[in-house]
Amino acid sequence: MSIAYLNGYPPETVQQVESLLQAQKLGPWLQKKYPDAHGMRDDRALFAYVQELKQQYLKGAQQLSKVLYDNKLQVVKNALGTHTTISRVQGSQLKAKREIRIAALFKDTPLEFLRMIAVHELAHLREREHDKNFYKLCCYMEPDYHQLEFEVRVYLSYLDSSEHGSVQRLWS
Ligand SMILES: [Zn+2]
Repeated sequence: MSIAYLNGYPPETVQQVESLLQAQKLGPWLQKKYPDAHGMRDDRALFAYVQELKQQYLKGAQQLSKVLYDNKLQVVKNALGTHTTISRVQGSQLKAKREIRIAALFKDTPLEFLRMIAVHELAHLREREHDKNFYKLCCYMEPDYHQLEFEVRVYLSYLDSSEHGSVQRLWS
């Protein structure tokens, strides 16, 4: 069972997800709740979207140098994206610019899922660890953050289960 993504959630919740998955009802449930994909399929659109969120909520935070979809971010290993700091010498000043990479599977998801991952990565501009302040910041940008992260993890569990069967991405 591919429940690694749901570690830390209440056992009864995990069990519910498992039985939906086994009954092949998980995909339909997600699709019913979120019928449409967001349609931002290239890096330019992604950058603009993340930049706008940053302008709205984290204006003073570090500048973003790049935001891109990354095919190499594996679904299983690192689905929640990565954030790196690249230091460049500009004149005599050392400036750090941030790059945000989002797993390519988020190209084909509902807007809510993309927003969740974008908010998550943006919050790392201010908070390095996944601690209380980090999640506070996530919820400031997206009040439904916890629910959305749960649903994204449910979707990842669903995708993971496809390795052993014939499940397909839902919104592509
Ligand atoms: Zn993180």
